[in-house]
Amino acid sequence: MTGMAADVRVGTGWDLHRLEEGRNLVVGGVSIPSPKGSVAHSDGDVLIHAIIDAMLGAAGMDDIGTLFPDTDSSYCGADSAELLSQVVNAVASRGFHVCNLDTTVVLQSPKLGPYKTAIRERLASLLGVDPSCVGVKAKTAEEILGELGTGSAIMAQAVVLLGL
Ligand code: MG
Repeated sequence: MTGMAADVRVGTGWDLHRLEEGRNLVVGGVSIPSPKGSVAHSDGDVLIHAIIDAMLGAAGMDDIGTLFPDTDSSYCGADSAELLSQVVNAVASRGFHVCNLDTTVVLQSPKLGPYKTAIRERLASLLGVDPSCVGVKAKTAEEILGELGTGSAIMAQAVVLLGL
């Protein structure tokens, strides 16, 4: 096979974290002022975790839980941005580069709108692409979708296209 279709790989990722008072909230490598933050073994960056799984899936590699197991104490409090950089390097060593990334974060509060530009720029920097290649959409759960709706959880999904 020749042509563009054979030279790109798509991947999807999804993640969810419980939110509790007194924890830090980090989304896409950006600290968000919030009374509640992610309960997690790492820094709980739900968006970067979804992105990592999308990239690993596109590259035909194993998932985030296998590469960075939460039973490994070395990942306790881990900076997810650092883990993403490791994944960028791992897929690059297999000949892949990021064509574009699109993401959605579902969070009831605080509203992420004011932070979208900062998140896009941080993610673009981590991925080594222009911010125009990164999509960040912020949604609420309309106060109706279970733990997401009550503001007790945060969810993210990501789609990435890798080129060879
Ligand atoms: Mg996670």
